[in-house]
Amino acid sequence: MAVRLLSRQETTLTEPTVVTSPYSGDITAALPFRAESDAWLNEVKHAGSVLIGTHLNPDGDALGSALAVSFYLDGLGIRNEVICHHPAPKNLRFLPGVSRIRQIPVEEKHDLGIILDLDSSERLGDAAPYFQGCQRIIVVDHHIPHEKPGDVRIIDTGSAATAVILTRLLRAIGAPFTPEISTCLLTGIVTDTGSFRYRNTNPESLAAASFLLEHGGDINLVSEEIFQSKPLASQRLLGHVLETMQLEANGQIAWSAVSLADFEWAQAKDEDTEGFVNELLFIETVRIATLLREPKPGKVRASLRSRADIDVAAVARLFGGGGHRNAAGCTFDGTLEEVEQILIRELKLCLASS
Ligand code: 5GP
Ligand code: MN
Repeated sequence: MAVRLLSRQETTLTEPTVVTSPYSGDITAALPFRAESDAWLNEVKHAGSVLIGTHLNPDGDALGSALAVSFYLDGLGIRNEVICHHPAPKNLRFLPGVSRIRQIPVEEKHDLGIILDLDSSERLGDAAPYFQGCQRIIVVDHHIPHEKPGDVRIIDTGSAATAVILTRLLRAIGAPFTPEISTCLLTGIVTDTGSFRYRNTNPESLAAASFLLEHGGDINLVSEEIFQSKPLASQRLLGHVLETMQLEANGQIAWSAVSLADFEWAQAKDEDTEGFVNELLFIETVRIATLLREPKPGKVRASLRSRADIDVAAVARLFGGGGHRNAAGCTFDGTLEEVEQILIRELKLCLASS
């Protein structure tokens, strides 16, 4: 059952502190991010123990950001734990500190919650209740806000990754960048920019990556583990997804579905479908792509991707999901056939209106 994460906003009716600092165009001028760094330090310096969390179905930005913050707090001598609804998927098990990720925290209560890469508290899944005991909550994120959990919100929707905002923030406060922290943050940036190929790649993401390389971030490890170590089952399933793909709207919409039976046939899991939806979008005529998966009976997950100014996050939001304009997702209760019909209809409308 989803538990809503209360913020002080809801208990005291005061607005949370929202600090957003779009990139100024010069990473070396870094440090006009005073509002962010003051707000962050103000919370962290009072904390005896910190609970770090991120979204379910975690990706490289979610876990890389969470582990980087954990190493940073270690450096300050502040007790901390990292929790996530799901364990790390196989392609992220190379992350430094990955064994820190638990589904249930050891300590019962923490002073401060730090939640990363999260736009709605529902996306904490079963980790949500553990944050209710925290006196204060900081959220650092780059999604279009869905709801606004947290007391302090450091949000920049123009950032390619939460890891970019953290790189900026930790630089601003003069935190040391160890090789572990740098590799974790680099993983977030490489994942969320699709190795600097997606449209969100901008000067700051490249500059932040360069800075992290200079500080021991291992880009070869990150690239090999994320993009060049696919399980055989995953590549087999990709073949099936491409083979059975369907095109709509004169080839402008591509979609494919992975049923429970397909997962069984390929001996694959939902995490093995990471990146498949992009393969559909890469077809030259395609402007919207979606991959539907049935990871368990009665549940369907949809990944949506689009080109340029087509806003698929708006479609995801219609179904209770969210994300970014060109990369979004949502989850349905129902069968694949039911979801196909309603989702493809909405995607056609979205295409027609753009
Ligand atoms: P993916 O398709 O890779 O799972 O997700 C693409 C983007 O959409 C990510 O930024 C992810 O956080 C977001 N997203 C995916 N599923 C959901 C969902 O069910 N709810 C919300 N709010 N965001 C989602
Ligand atoms: Mn992210």
